[in-house]
Amino acid sequence: MSERITLFAEVILPLPLPSTYTYRIPYEWNDLIKGGQRVAVQLGNKKIYSGLVRNVHSNAPNVQSVKYILSILDPDPIVSEKSFKLWQWIANYYMCYLGDVMSIALPSALRLRSETKVIINPDFDGDITNLEEDESLIIESLAKKEALSIDDVNKVCGKANILSLLNKMIKKNIIITEEELNSRYRPKVEDYIRLSDTYQEQEKLKELFSILESKKVMEKQYETLLTFLSLAKYPNAEIKKIELSKQTKFSPSAFATMVKKGIFINTKKVQSRLESHSSSLSIKNLILNQDQEDVFNNIISEWNNKPVTLLHGVTGSGKTEVYIKLIEKVIEKGEQVLFLLPEIALTSHLISRLEKYFGSKIGIYHSRFSLCERAEIWQKVCSPIKESRYDIIIGSRSSLFLPFEKLGLIIVDEEHDSSYKQYDPAPRYNARDTAIFLANLHNAKTVLGSATPSLESYFNAKEGKYQFLELKKRYSGTLLPEIFVADIKESTKRKEMHSHFSKMLVDHITEALKNKEQVILFQNRRGFALQLRCEVCGWIPSCTHCDVSLTYHKQSDLLKCHYCGYSVNILQQCGDCGSHKVKMVGFGTEKIEEDLEIFFPNARVARMDLDTTRAKNSYESIINDFQDRKIDILVGTQMVTKGLDFDNVSVVGILNADTMINFPDFRSFERAFQQMTQVSGRAGRKHKRGTVIIQTYNPYHQAIRDVIDYNYKGMYESQILDRKVFKYPPFYRLIKISIRHKEKIVLDAIADEFRTDITKIFGGRILGPEYPLIPRVKNYYTKEFLLKIERKESIAKAKEEIKILVEKFTTKHKQTRITLDVDPA
Ligand code: ADP
Ligand code: ZN
Ligand code: ZN
Repeated sequence: MSERITLFAEVILPLPLPSTYTYRIPYEWNDLIKGGQRVAVQLGNKKIYSGLVRNVHSNAPNVQSVKYILSILDPDPIVSEKSFKLWQWIANYYMCYLGDVMSIALPSALRLRSETKVIINPDFDGDITNLEEDESLIIESLAKKEALSIDDVNKVCGKANILSLLNKMIKKNIIITEEELNSRYRPKVEDYIRLSDTYQEQEKLKELFSILESKKVMEKQYETLLTFLSLAKYPNAEIKKIELSKQTKFSPSAFATMVKKGIFINTKKVQSRLESHSSSLSIKNLILNQDQEDVFNNIISEWNNKPVTLLHGVTGSGKTEVYIKLIEKVIEKGEQVLFLLPEIALTSHLISRLEKYFGSKIGIYHSRFSLCERAEIWQKVCSPIKESRYDIIIGSRSSLFLPFEKLGLIIVDEEHDSSYKQYDPAPRYNARDTAIFLANLHNAKTVLGSATPSLESYFNAKEGKYQFLELKKRYSGTLLPEIFVADIKESTKRKEMHSHFSKMLVDHITEALKNKEQVILFQNRRGFALQLRCEVCGWIPSCTHCDVSLTYHKQSDLLKCHYCGYSVNILQQCGDCGSHKVKMVGFGTEKIEEDLEIFFPNARVARMDLDTTRAKNSYESIINDFQDRKIDILVGTQMVTKGLDFDNVSVVGILNADTMINFPDFRSFERAFQQMTQVSGRAGRKHKRGTVIIQTYNPYHQAIRDVIDYNYKGMYESQILDRKVFKYPPFYRLIKISIRHKEKIVLDAIADEFRTDITKIFGGRILGPEYPLIPRVKNYYTKEFLLKIERKESIAKAKEEIKILVEKFTTKHKQTRITLDVDPA
């Protein structure tokens, strides 16, 4: 026993603080506190937080008084040493604090703090007979007040430290944090049960029966097992729990005991809405074609030399099938697989395909899942019992932080997708790059897959850093869609434009509708939205808090700001010259939808963009309707470019390619190529070659020529040259430094001062300061610097110097905010 030694714990708080805080461990807990556990601690005079113990030591800190740890929230560590290494890497590489990483790594309910508000869990059955005194006190006041902050709860109970009690109540599903409730995303989840592998053997099952039969107290378990088997028909079948619980002989308590004993395995599965449509082939006997087989074999045989692979496969080439075989190979060895997707909600057909193949071994992790679901997945990822452990996790970027036991492979699908990068808040990390680091920590492999790889990954492959493999043909054998260009300038001259549609596009849509085929129209989000404009002086109303023009929203009949939500009624009069000739101009998805209804009155038109999909499940119902052919023409923004797999789409229209190409960003050609190619890939997938029509003012633009020719290499070669000449990634690393202040004049002065100081360190490597495209957002003005550092220079040293400088500026100018973005997207 180490009883009399004075021990201290370094605690990470879920706040942007530069370091850990030291707390003293009460003697009686010397043996109980370990790194990775949560503890309740006080910061300042009254704020209480749940912090995470990083490590325990005996070096007394150099301060007057050290506060004690108030309570232990977890009996065992919830964060492993490996995860801490990942957190530390992210903090160093992306220049943020450990507390920032903690804030995204742990589900919100694991981050209780004084300001957190709790409410009664809507799933709580209201039975208060079994509650402890404090618990019922809290429930009583919640019944009156609806929401209580943790400070309020302290007062109600007359105790200072209530976190461990609240934590318990959350675990028991009695209460829930408000944040949790608001972000509750309810996929359709159902419980499935099956017999554990052990009892699927005849002999063992017989033994089990005779044990259960022998004792009167086990009668209910005996009957539950019998009921299960009568429903399941085969010992290895899986049935919905709800089916079982409907039976008269079913006993919930006996069932719970049997799950605990490991007789039954209970898994939650996300119900796929596309289940009935997805490919009818039973993937259990999936056979790769020759090309896929070659790719698979090459990946495996080279894995030890090159643990990272880039798979460049055209849309429909069957990358998923290759992934499936790789996953199978890895889980056979008892290792886990993480399958990363850019946007979980947009890819449920892919999930259902994997679920069909791997069944209950798959867990799906989404940051919008409820606490219970996430907590369950969290436990099942690190479960020491092989039987109840998830072998495969499908998730968006936050699933990188799950407590994997033994990771063998990470797949990053659509690796080029910019939503892998978190913009705000810190940590501004890129999940693809972080995945490679995480895989390395576990000595695992990484496969990056895409039909349009990022320039960076393709470069790494060309340089020999990654293994490089290609799938050049569609699995079905159909050709990639034929792409035509409609010259808007010419068409306008010839008076052949129907509002925003060229004659060529109208003709193809008409033909498709006649053949009962479907159409997808893509309008870039950066395209013009509908705006009010004065015909006399050109005035456009703009937001009072941000430097953006307001756009018209038909549903609410208001002019709105996309950045802060500010809105006003439609104006009848120009705000500048007073003229009454104000008119709606523009070309948003909503306007296109309206126009289509005019030109194709018999077609069923639907729109998919941020506005129409904000409500729960609305995205799903649009997709379902499109899948069920209840929609003929689907108009949408970026969302329609991602992974949808329909086999009746014969025409894809890109309404205005120029808005993508002309966007002022060094990646705009690359992005334009990727988006146009991806959306083209939605045409004619299975039986018939599809058609794509690109409308543009610049039909001979190189980016458009490359899309038409499916010339990824051509795009790559011209772009990589530009990147080298103009000093951009992958040859240079970028760090974006943004300085923000409410006063424009003050900001200008501070930015100039910053420039002087940073130039002393980095010389000509620093660009700026410049106002971004939108200089003011939510009343803050922003000025940006861009630092370009040669690959071979030490980035660690540069980061250290920037940190010191930023520290100095934020101390000196209290009202200034500085954010750092490493590898900005
Ligand atoms: P990608 O992900 O590369 O765009 P998919 O994996 O979606 O391509 O495959 C395209 C279509 O071809 C899917 O409908 C898939 O079921 C089918 N497919 C691909 N490979 C095979 C295979 N080996 N056996 C059967 N069907 C396959
Ligand atoms: Zn005017
Ligand atoms: Zn605004």
